[in-house]
Amino acid sequence: MPIYEFKCDKCKTTFEQLTKENKNNSTCPVCGHQSHKIISISHFRIKGYTEENGYSKPE
Ligand SMILES: [Zn+2]
Repeated sequence: MPIYEFKCDKCKTTFEQLTKENKNNSTCPVCGHQSHKIISISHFRIKGYTEENGYSKPE
């Protein structure tokens, strides 16, 4: 099962979560706000810049 990394839109907390689905959003474990999936640079390059769905640029 793949591990995805999410970042909270509100408090900027990053956390990892095991998900069966390739979902783009999760809930922040700290504040409960919506969080979006982030993809590491290495993973993104392996994908050949084709996986744009769910990708968010780090701030
Ligand atoms: Zn949060």
